[in-house]
Amino acid sequence: MKLPLLPKNIARIDNGEKFNFACHNQVSCFTNCCRQLELALTPYDTLRLKKELGMHSHDFLDTYVIIEHDPKEDVFPRLYLTMVDDGRASCVFVNEKGCSVYPSRPGACRAYPMGRAAMRKPDNSLEDYYVLLNEEHCLGFEEPTRQTPLEYCQEQGLNTYNDMNDALIPILQHDKIRQGMQLDEKQVDLYILALYDLDTFREKLFNGNLETAPLSKTQKEKLEEDEHLFFYGVDWLKEQLFNN
Ligand code: SF4
Ligand code: SF4
Repeated sequence: MKLPLLPKNIARIDNGEKFNFACHNQVSCFTNCCRQLELALTPYDTLRLKKELGMHSHDFLDTYVIIEHDPKEDVFPRLYLTMVDDGRASCVFVNEKGCSVYPSRPGACRAYPMGRAAMRKPDNSLEDYYVLLNEEHCLGFEEPTRQTPLEYCQEQGLNTYNDMNDALIPILQHDKIRQGMQLDEKQVDLYILALYDLDTFREKLFNGNLETAPLSKTQKEKLEEDEHLFFYGVDWLKEQLFNN
């Protein structure tokens, strides 16, 4: 994979290469990384968070998410977690004990200080690589624990997040997108509905308000599960956006 030029504090790391890092509530920088950040949410992040909080996806988006879309900059809208106006721009979920949604914290929080890029190859297989982001405020690199990126993913429960994010690649890196396709307003709304506002998507689907073949009772029972609905939504959206 041709790598982009990386800033000085970001370095590529091989899948089997060990690095020093550990994060726990005894580090003096505890929760520093939960402030003054732009936290972009993936669809699976919102699925997990709204479930954790027992909220309808629409209410979750309304309460905790800022949606931005500048068609000159991005094809797809970006959804960011709200930060609190406390003089430190803290994440809405951080408190003195740490992360209040820890079991369902977003993938980016699990991965930090690591990042992962996944690209679709011409034969449709995926290639991924990892990078380490070394920021001054993060003292976790001074800890003695050593692990490889793959071990870190396992420890942080990232594999499911990576799999769910990879399921979006046929949309995000679709040939038509690579060739410069732009979304109109209706398509942007469908993108948010099918991928981020799952409960509303389910309601519209079950009420026959969306373009689909009628669903059987068995299909509806399956789609009560958010994870199944997520994959259904990806296929449905792909059809709506690209007719394939
Ligand atoms: S979601 Fe949790 S881990 Fe992520 S920035 Fe907010 S408080 Fe920190
Ligand atoms: S700044 Fe680094 S070591 Fe400190 S709490 Fe955040 S991830 Fe952990």
